[in-house]
Amino acid sequence: MYDINFWSEHFSIHEPIDVRVPPQAIDSFADFLTLDSAKIEYVVHMADIGAIIERQRVLHNLHRSLSNTNDFAYNKYHTIEEIHAWIDQMVATYPELVTPLTIGKSYENRNIKGFKISSKKMATKIDGTKATTKKAVWWDGGIHAREWISPATIIYIGYALLSKYGQNPTITHLVDQFDYYILPVFNVDGYVYTWTEDRLWRKTRSKTSVPFCYGADPNRNWDYHWCERGASSDPCSDLFCGEKAFSEIEIAQVAKFIASQRDTIVNYINFHAYSQMWMSPWGYTTMRPAQFKLQDDGSIQAINALTAVHSTKYLHGTIAQTIYLSSGSTADWAYGIANITFSYGVELRDTGEYGFLLPEDQIIPTGEETFAGLLALLQYIEKYVYA
Ligand SMILES: [Zn+2]
Repeated sequence: MYDINFWSEHFSIHEPIDVRVPPQAIDSFADFLTLDSAKIEYVVHMADIGAIIERQRVLHNLHRSLSNTNDFAYNKYHTIEEIHAWIDQMVATYPELVTPLTIGKSYENRNIKGFKISSKKMATKIDGTKATTKKAVWWDGGIHAREWISPATIIYIGYALLSKYGQNPTITHLVDQFDYYILPVFNVDGYVYTWTEDRLWRKTRSKTSVPFCYGADPNRNWDYHWCERGASSDPCSDLFCGEKAFSEIEIAQVAKFIASQRDTIVNYINFHAYSQMWMSPWGYTTMRPAQFKLQDDGSIQAINALTAVHSTKYLHGTIAQTIYLSSGSTADWAYGIANITFSYGVELRDTGEYGFLLPEDQIIPTGEETFAGLLALLQYIEKYVYA
């Protein structure tokens, strides 16, 4: 009745949550919260979200018009066309390392386009002998359309791996140890919609059974404990699980690709924002998997290295225990069905000051710290998979 939109993916009793309320409902919503029967304390973080979006848009365009170079700006958010052109540029600049990777087409017929980084070197086992097979990682961003920092961070990381290969010994070693499948923008249609229509759109853009309610939550649409707790069967909900598992063509195609590579992929990271959390399965139950300690130790390695860069604090643990129950999620499917041991959902900056509207001046710091976390995680994983 207040048309509120939940920003937090964070719902636990006695913990604060972030909600967006339309201007016409602010007074009545505030009255509701302070009713004697409710007595819910609240603070206003952003008094006028529309004004912040508009100011960021003006600043973004101003900086673009002032920069007289065609170089890709790593400290800016980019449209899908710019991101796909950047992938082409990486392929052209680093032909020895990069190949383009198109997983398929989206609902609105856009390319689901990423790239693969692979050096010609064989991987080395921990005892120094050559490994017989090279393991791979899969990292994706932008599964939720409005979480712009996740594609920007993935792009930063991809460039860091490529530009420092052959220069930095740690990075060179890790690029030789693993193949990297990198998909900067998973939910391409939703991402375009956040640039053209609604900056705060989350879901895909497929038609549903309800007129004027579009899209499913791509992080509730995977075929593993699909649409159980922490998902909605209401097409108008932001947590809509879809008409059936893998109803969303983007999810079905990525799942098919991952399944085809299940013998080599050892690490799947589904990047989100915001909340600053590094999480492992399960999301569908508060029970911990048998390999929880192995997985959570990886999270700890990652966040210790991450925090060391800019003192950004992260939480870790299972999805269900760190955020809340969510079924049909990416990380659960990647572990439960594709058997990828080191499967994570990562919530990047911030903790709610700007939320989805993280300013562009935080892109590089977020990239730097997340990259440090990933290097530490890979150093941990290689000890296990190349033992
Ligand atoms: Zn998300």
